Amino acid sequence: MLRLKSCPKCRGDLIIDRDMYGWYEQCIQCGYLHPLEPLPKIEQPAMEEHKKELVKVGAGASGRGGRPRTPRSNKHDED
Ligand SMILES: [Zn+2]
Repeated sequence: MLRLKSCPKCRGDLIIDRDMYGWYEQCIQCGYLHPLEPLPKIEQPAMEEHKKELVKVGAGASGRGGRPRTPRSNKHDED
């Protein structure tokens, strides 16, 4: 395999070959050598857990004025 004009140094031609260590690309013109990754790394976006815990607890779910009013009947019929 050959990559034309891909050398970062001299814009020469890179030949891609592999040896016992793996793949590499080497410039024919200047001898630039660059090891290649066996597989291109695909960066996966980190799946961050979006925890939206918007739980508002408290402040009486029964509404305002918790006290039930007991109507006093203090009226004593005075004789
Ligand atoms: Zn080169």
